[in-house]
Amino acid sequence: MTRSERGPADPIHAPAAPGPGVGRIKRNVGRVIERSHVRRQPSRGRYDLAAINAVLDAGYVAHVAFVQDNQPFCIPMLYARIGRAVYVHGSSASRTIRLLSTGVPACLTVTILDGLVLARSAFEHSANYRSAVLLGAFRRVDRDDERLAAFAAFTNQVIPGRWAEVREPNRQELKASQILALPIAEASVKVRSGPPTDDDSPDAERDVWAGVLPLHTIYGPPEAASGLRSGIPLSQSARRLIEGHAGPGTSQLDQIGDDRGGRPPAEPDRHPERDEPNG
Ligand SMILES: Cc1cc2nc3c(=O)[nH]c(=O)nc-3n(C[C@H](O)[C@H](O)[C@H](O)COP(=O)(O)OP(=O)(O)OC[C@H]3O[C@@H](n4cnc5c(N)ncnc54)[C@H](O)[C@@H]3O)c2cc1C
Repeated sequence: MTRSERGPADPIHAPAAPGPGVGRIKRNVGRVIERSHVRRQPSRGRYDLAAINAVLDAGYVAHVAFVQDNQPFCIPMLYARIGRAVYVHGSSASRTIRLLSTGVPACLTVTILDGLVLARSAFEHSANYRSAVLLGAFRRVDRDDERLAAFAAFTNQVIPGRWAEVREPNRQELKASQILALPIAEASVKVRSGPPTDDDSPDAERDVWAGVLPLHTIYGPPEAASGLRSGIPLSQSARRLIEGHAGPGTSQLDQIGDDRGGRPPAEPDRHPERDEPNG
């Protein structure tokens, strides 16, 4: 199963142009409302469920924003989409979870960086990206079957197929976590793709390279847990993930490390470019 195959297919609605009084509409999926309307570069905005789901299903981390005592916070969290809702989870004692569960206004953003766009002028540099911004309020998920489905989705969002390989949460573990759902009701997607925009400008005469440096998520060689018993091979889910997005050193999965399906954890290394004395 690929990431984009998760979840049921959703209907696609064509967005309509904003009209008078449209700012009062609370649900915009398939429509455009004032506060979710992409105003800068509006041609990059999308509002249909297919576009929203595609970004949500490709991402790993959501930034969830809310206001507490007049102070905005923006907290990174894992998430999963099931149908028309985005689920997050955390400790029942978490400030973020406790506050969001009261239904305060929230904003959830998922960003995928696809490339760096290098132009001839500093001004025209840009990034290729896909991002989704969802507005609304979370609700607490209390039904056992919905909670279990959300747990499965959290696991599979990160590693498709992993849920089927591992022990399911027991009653105590289920209780320790709070699960919240944000309906996909008011949302926008913005996408930038393609080369720099100065190909047809006087700057194109300059002897400076221009183009796109694509960015991809890759996985390194697996590092087996120090307590992993010998003879246990790398799980199929992890193997599929690595083979689909292999990074340097992962092409010879069968040869690396020991019989525990991975090499020992690497020593943390200093990134030379980030260790400049004045950096
Ligand atoms: C990639 C990623 C995925 C995560 N997934 C989850 C998840 O699925 N569920 C979950 O509950 N938590 C997750 N976390 C941790 C999450 O970001 C919060 O730390 C956690 O939810 C506690 O939030 P809180 O507001 O209750 O914490 P508190 O400890 O009450 O936060 C107090 C303050 O600490 C600071 N702070 C809190 N978290 C962070 C942070 N991550 N980075 C920098 N400063 C911070 C902020 O200033 C915050 O206002 C994830 C973090 C990362 C980076």
